[in-house]
Amino acid sequence: METATSLLDFIKDEFVPEPKEIPERIQKEIKLDLEELFCPFCGHPLEYYYISKVRPLITLKYDISLRVVHKRCVNEGCVAAAVNRRFYNPSLDLCMLPKKMYAMDVILLIGYLIQQENKTEEEVVKYLLEEHGITISQPSVNNYKRIALALGEALIMGNAEKIKSGLDDLSFRVYSIDGLNSNKSRILFVIRDLISGIILGSALLDKHDSDTIHDFMEAVFQKFGTPDYMVGDGERGLIGAVRKYYSHIPYQYCQRHFLDNLGKDLMEALYKALKKNLIGKTP
Ligand SMILES: [Zn+2]
Repeated sequence: METATSLLDFIKDEFVPEPKEIPERIQKEIKLDLEELFCPFCGHPLEYYYISKVRPLITLKYDISLRVVHKRCVNEGCVAAAVNRRFYNPSLDLCMLPKKMYAMDVILLIGYLIQQENKTEEEVVKYLLEEHGITISQPSVNNYKRIALALGEALIMGNAEKIKSGLDDLSFRVYSIDGLNSNKSRILFVIRDLISGIILGSALLDKHDSDTIHDFMEAVFQKFGTPDYMVGDGERGLIGAVRKYYSHIPYQYCQRHFLDNLGKDLMEALYKALKKNLIGKTP
C-alpha cells in the first residue's frame, strides 16, 4: 500500500477534456428561386422582378452566400399589384430575419442554450464553435439571445392574449410546423401562424417520436387554439403525430401545395384579411 500526502496527485489532469475537433463549415452559393408561377391572390402569372444582392447567411451547418429572386404580379386589378407586393420563396422568412446574418436555427439554438440549459454567453460562444464551427462574438450572442427571447416564449407570454385574439379574428387557422435540423439527434421544431408569420412556439427536442412531438404541438394548441389546417414537412415523427392525434385536421406537405389546394371560399377569406393588412400598412 502507498502512503499519499494528497489525493490531488491521483486526479490531476484527468478532468481536463481533450480539445474537440472543430467541425468544418460547408460553403455554398445559393440563388433562392420561387416555385410559384401564379399570383396566390388573383391567379395571374407572376413576373420576374429582380434578384437581390448577395447576403451572407450562417446556418448551423452552412456558410451561404445568398441571392433571392423576387417576382411580382402585374395584373392591375389585383391587390398584390396595387400594393406592389413582392413574392419570394417563403422559406426565406422561415429561415432568416431581415438584416441578420445568423439563420433561425442558430438563433433559436442560442435562445435554447441560454434559457433551457442555463449556459452563459461565453459558454454559448464556445459551444457554437466546438459543435458547429461557428465563429460568433459574445456581444452578438447577447444580441441574438434577445432576438430569440423576443421570438420565443418571452414575447408569447406577454402577448399571448393579443396573438390569440388576432387568430380568433381569422376565419380559419393555418399553422406551419417545421423541423430544423440541429446538432446531433436534436431537432428544433417551430410552430407558426402561416398567415401572420408569428412564431407560436419553439422547442429543441431530444426525442422526435410522435408522442414527444404531439406533447409540444398540444401545448401550443392549448395556448392559441387548434388549427383548421396544418402545413409541414415530411419529418417522420411529425407525420406520425399528425396521423395519430390530429387525423381530423388536414395536413399539407408544403405551403405552395397548400395555397394551390385552398378552396375558393377560404381563399376569399384569406384575400380579404390580407387586403386589409397590406393596404393598411403600405405608404
Ligand atoms: Zn395578382
